[in-house]
Amino acid sequence: MLKLKNINTFYGNIQALKGVTIEIAQGEIVTLIGANGAGKSTTLMSICGVVPPRTGEIWFKGSPIQGMSPDKIVTLGINQVPEGRRIFPNMSVLENLEMGTFLRRDKEGIKKDLEYVLDLFPILAQRRNQAGGTLSGGEQQMLAISRALMGRPRLLLLDEPSLGLAPLIIKQIFEIIKKINEESGTTIFLVEQNANQALKLAHRGYVMENGRITLSDTAETLLSNEDVKKAYLGI
Ligand code: ATP
Repeated sequence: MLKLKNINTFYGNIQALKGVTIEIAQGEIVTLIGANGAGKSTTLMSICGVVPPRTGEIWFKGSPIQGMSPDKIVTLGINQVPEGRRIFPNMSVLENLEMGTFLRRDKEGIKKDLEYVLDLFPILAQRRNQAGGTLSGGEQQMLAISRALMGRPRLLLLDEPSLGLAPLIIKQIFEIIKKINEESGTTIFLVEQNANQALKLAHRGYVMENGRITLSDTAETLLSNEDVKKAYLGI
C-alpha cells in the first residue's frame, strides 16, 4: 500500500533521513521505533508532504506521491495524528470531530462514523459538548485519533500516541488502535519511543537510528532480538 524507496530528507543542510526504505501492506500495523531525534517524525512528515524528501520515491496504492502538496495527499486517504495531538482547544469535542470530515459530503456515512468513534471512546460521548482544551491528555489523544478516523483514512499515521500518558491510558489507547485495525481494516503506521508496547501491538517493525533503518522484521522477532532488547526495551 505504501512504499518509501531510498528517501533522503533534509532540514536545510541537515540530513535527517538517510536512504530510508519502508514498505507497508494493506491491513497491516507497522511500527517505527527509535530514540529521540532518530528521524521518526520526519519520516511521517515526508509521507504527508510537509517535509518532502529531496530524493527517493514514495508510492501509495501504486502511484507516486512525492512532490504532492499535503492537502492533496490527505485527499488520497492518508491521515496523520501529529505528535502533541493538536486538537482545537476552544472547540467542543463534536466540533473537533466535525473538522475531521471537511473533505466528505456523505452525510449518512459521517453520521455512522460519528457513532462508531463515540462507541470506541465512550468518554468522548460523555464529553461531547465540552471544549477540547479542557480534556485530559489521554482524552485529547483519543479525540485526535477519532478526528483522524472521521476522515475515513485508508492509511492512519500515528506519531507517538503514548507520549506523556499514564500506563493504563496507554494500554487502553493501544487496545483501541488494534480494534480499529481489526474492525475497519485501516492500515496503521505507528511511530513510537515506547518500543515494548508498540511491538506488542504491531505485525512488523522497523528500527531507526540516526536517520537510517538499521533493522526490520516481524514484531515478534524484534521483541526477542538481543540488540533491540538492550537498546529499546530496557532488558
Ligand atoms: P522525537 O521523538 O524527538 O520526535 P524523532 O525520531 O521523531 O524524535 P525527528 O523529530 O524526526 O526525530 O528529528 C530527526 C532529526 O532532525 C533530529 O536530529 C532533529 O534535531 C532534526 N530536526 C527535526 N526537525 C527539525 C527542524 N525543523 N529543523 C532542523 N532540524 C530538525
